[in-house]
Amino acid sequence: MTAVRETSLPVRPDLTGLEPYGAPQLDVPVLLNVNENPHPPSAQVVADLAAAVAEAAPGLNRYPDREFLDLRADLADYLRVESGATLRPEQIWAANGSNEVMLHLLQAFGGPGRTALSFAPTYSMYPEYARDTMTGWVAGRREDDFTLDPDHAVAQLTEHRPSVVLLASPNNPTGTALPLSTIEAVAEAARTTGPEGADGAPTASVVVVDEAYAEFRREGTPSALELLDRYPHLAVSRTMSKAFGLAGARVGYLAAAPALVDVLRVVRLPYHLSAVTQAVARAALRHRGELMAQVAELRAERDRTVTWLRGHGLTVADSDANFVLFGPVEDRERVWRGLLDQGVLIRVVGPPGWLRVSIGTAAEMAAFRSALEEVLGL
Ligand code: PMP
Repeated sequence: MTAVRETSLPVRPDLTGLEPYGAPQLDVPVLLNVNENPHPPSAQVVADLAAAVAEAAPGLNRYPDREFLDLRADLADYLRVESGATLRPEQIWAANGSNEVMLHLLQAFGGPGRTALSFAPTYSMYPEYARDTMTGWVAGRREDDFTLDPDHAVAQLTEHRPSVVLLASPNNPTGTALPLSTIEAVAEAARTTGPEGADGAPTASVVVVDEAYAEFRREGTPSALELLDRYPHLAVSRTMSKAFGLAGARVGYLAAAPALVDVLRVVRLPYHLSAVTQAVARAALRHRGELMAQVAELRAERDRTVTWLRGHGLTVADSDANFVLFGPVEDRERVWRGLLDQGVLIRVVGPPGWLRVSIGTAAEMAAFRSALEEVLGL
């Protein structure tokens, strides 16, 4: 990768020497490194996506529907089925991946002189959203088992008065889901922990619960969508990249109060969601039954992987996601390389000594297990 060099260009000083974010994209047989869904769309889904694109194509001389209310209605309907949430289209926002949704949040609520807060270890893009919007960045801590202590979280809000708090649940790279009580404690405190408003009174901190992996949560783990009615400063973000197996289509979305969504409408680029993207997302949502069946299978495969790793003496963080973080290994670069030599790509991420493996098909996980047995001499 090429780092940003000092040249005669007026590069922002804080970008000098930085490299673009991203895991290695290597062409190997078993890809278990970026938490994708291992199942390609079925022939039937492919045919419907293609038909939807064909239907949109004759209109591509025109800009797309800027408000994409049809897609927002379909996403609201999906959340009703998936989580029992009752949401109006005006409460939904979407963009090119939840990465862009969260950038919109930071553009709207962050900025110079303001702070975004999260709790490490967590998703490594968060500090980049902050950097790119010139928002200050503060990371509190998670406990040794990667849970979040609500008292610590609230103390961090009170101390740093962030305008945005990012809570990943399930968290990447640890897989840890937050209990609703923790999110409630943060959202409750957040009512008055934001920066001073124009009238000198404290505003709320916007609390973003990043539920990119929510569909993989274990039985009985609730979604933060349940709390939306009570907190006008809460936003719950989701994506079609993981459970839906549509990472290549780039569709992320969030649910929040209409007043919060209205601020995002101000900062988005005009027509940011292409007509092709909207058509593909809507067609995929019509197949949610088939796609959700795969989620159940991946969950079961995840639980088998956790049991197997623990059975071999490794420590594994409890996971509500489609990946697991395991360790400790003495030289994780060596283990990563050893697996790669056998055609299995996983990810070096998380605290020292830990590695993350995404959940693939049964055959891919068998390849992972036998490669790991060999590399670690299990
Ligand atoms: N949030 C978390 C926690 C993630 O792990 C990811 C992807 N790795 C994203 C958001 C962004 O996903 P996308 O932009 O594909 O929706």
